[in-house]
Amino acid sequence: MQEKSQRNSSNRPFWHALKRGFHRRRIGNRGTGFECFIWRGKPGPALVLNAATHGDEYEGPTFLHELVRDWRPKALTGTVVAIPVLNEDAFLAGRRCAESDGKNLARVFPGNASGTRTERIAHLFRTRVLRFADYYADFHSAGAAYEILPWVGYMMTDDADVLEGQRKMARCFDRYWCWGAPGLPGRTLSAAAELGVPAIYTESRGCGAVAQEDLEVLRRSTMRLLKAFGFVPGRVRLTAQEATRESGDKHEAHLQWQHPAPCDGLVVDVAPIGTKRKKGQPLCGVQPLTGGKTIRVNAMRSGTVVFIRRQRSIRKGESLGTVVPLP
Ligand SMILES: [Zn+2]
Repeated sequence: MQEKSQRNSSNRPFWHALKRGFHRRRIGNRGTGFECFIWRGKPGPALVLNAATHGDEYEGPTFLHELVRDWRPKALTGTVVAIPVLNEDAFLAGRRCAESDGKNLARVFPGNASGTRTERIAHLFRTRVLRFADYYADFHSAGAAYEILPWVGYMMTDDADVLEGQRKMARCFDRYWCWGAPGLPGRTLSAAAELGVPAIYTESRGCGAVAQEDLEVLRRSTMRLLKAFGFVPGRVRLTAQEATRESGDKHEAHLQWQHPAPCDGLVVDVAPIGTKRKKGQPLCGVQPLTGGKTIRVNAMRSGTVVFIRRQRSIRKGESLGTVVPLP
């Protein structure tokens, strides 16, 4: 694919001026900005990778910093841009959302150049980086408060070429199950969709930790992606994951929406991640701080538990988990 910069020479990405090799650049300033690491190869497409869109997710930043430290490809076609920590404010606070404005970076896209700090980060990322991408991957995880059965996902779209590109990218992550679902506003992926950039996201295990097996999957799958899309030499066999679900239900992949806690309290009797539940079977319980009976929360649909609360304190309305009818 031709470099996007060549299609519109008056509006080039910042990496266009960089020589072949490895570089670091800061986009934005100290307060509002992020560190970018750039591998420049022969002319070709641009792949953008980022992590820590949410500040309490550590697998993606760990993997991308390993890549920054160790990966020096002998033959590279195109440009690879890695942003290990997109949301520095939230990351340094160890929280999902930024401390300065309390906003969720995955809800404020396309952002606002004169808005709050989180809105400015979204605007910077979209206008300086994402709009010049040919492919995009955002590495998430369950964060400190939840555990996930790791998956790779993408937004369903009517653009057949973009959808096919996304399916091919997702197949590189062959050790994860695969989930296509309708787009929700404000995400990095919804910004990518508006820009016509094929995009995927991954969700690693979380629990505030970094599982070695997750790191291994991110390493292996990203190398497969680099080969499959011609950034580095080599061949890979791509087949659709056995557990692939493409859904038209706009609420299905909205993790914070399902099984809300009925009251403030202590989470008890938690269904283990990856186990099956029939609709109406208990998913977990919430013990009110005022005492009395534990309130059962039952599965709203039959399926596999793919997302579950690990932090045992919870506020009314926060999600206890997600059940998905996996094939
Ligand atoms: Zn996240």
